[in-house]
Amino acid sequence: MVIAVLAVQGSFFEHERILDRLGVEYFEIRHKSDLGRDFDGLILPGGESTTMGKLLRELDLFDTLKKKIIDGLPVYGTCAGMILLSSRLSNDDNVYFGTMDMTVRRNAYGRQLGSFETVADVKGIGEVPMVFIRAPYIESIGEKAEALATVNGNIVAARQGNQLVTSFHPELTDNTKVHEYFLSMIK
Ligand code: GLN
Repeated sequence: MVIAVLAVQGSFFEHERILDRLGVEYFEIRHKSDLGRDFDGLILPGGESTTMGKLLRELDLFDTLKKKIIDGLPVYGTCAGMILLSSRLSNDDNVYFGTMDMTVRRNAYGRQLGSFETVADVKGIGEVPMVFIRAPYIESIGEKAEALATVNGNIVAARQGNQLVTSFHPELTDNTKVHEYFLSMIK
């Protein structure tokens, strides 16, 4: 199994550290030529979704990755990665891959609650520590997708077939359970 980690911007290195700990092979997607390699899963890290969206277009990565996701490539989006997969943003006109049937609010916790940590249950995984950094949450979710975790009444993790998203950053904790769940989606 080989995982591709989108590494044009944001916290991709932290995901790679988790994959190292789990003994999983991976490589970084930085250029169009990287898409020539075979991979079984894709991680879209946290960062700045506007910048990542722009770079995906400029580096000519966008169309190939979108097609792979539509064709069933397992993908895990954290935070900005969740924004990239969302079909609607409630406070932004942009749509990026738009492959996951949900409405996401960017920077949903405002300035004061911009960053916080909690522990909550994720369906199919159990309790995990959750680190939120200027995080989005899912305001509403379509019929094709399923909410996996809720914090303060807001959906913070969801799955739609081959697509997994979390508002929070498990890669910034030493808990590997969410990544293990993602890897179990590949096969
Ligand atoms: N606020 C960022 C955005 O809208 C996401 C934050 C993150 O990925 N930590 O792109």
